Amino acid sequence: MNQLRVETDPVLCAGSGMCALLAPEVFDQDEEEGTVVLIDDRPAEVRRDAVLAAAERCPAGAIRVAGAD
Ligand code: SF4
Repeated sequence: MNQLRVETDPVLCAGSGMCALLAPEVFDQDEEEGTVVLIDDRPAEVRRDAVLAAAERCPAGAIRVAGAD
């Protein structure tokens, strides 16, 4: 499997917090704005499912993941 590479777009982000809930080791939220803060742009294999779920469920389409196939 390929190494996951994650990008987030705080401008698109709606601050729902779904990503931080599903993958708290990879995503956090800005304390003031509530927008996404990417903690780990090369998450370990063990985080794959959680990262893909976060990207899929992000209501704003603000998470891009490469290396998912
Ligand atoms: S799930 Fe999407 S909209 Fe919600 S905080 Fe994360 S990046 Fe932002």
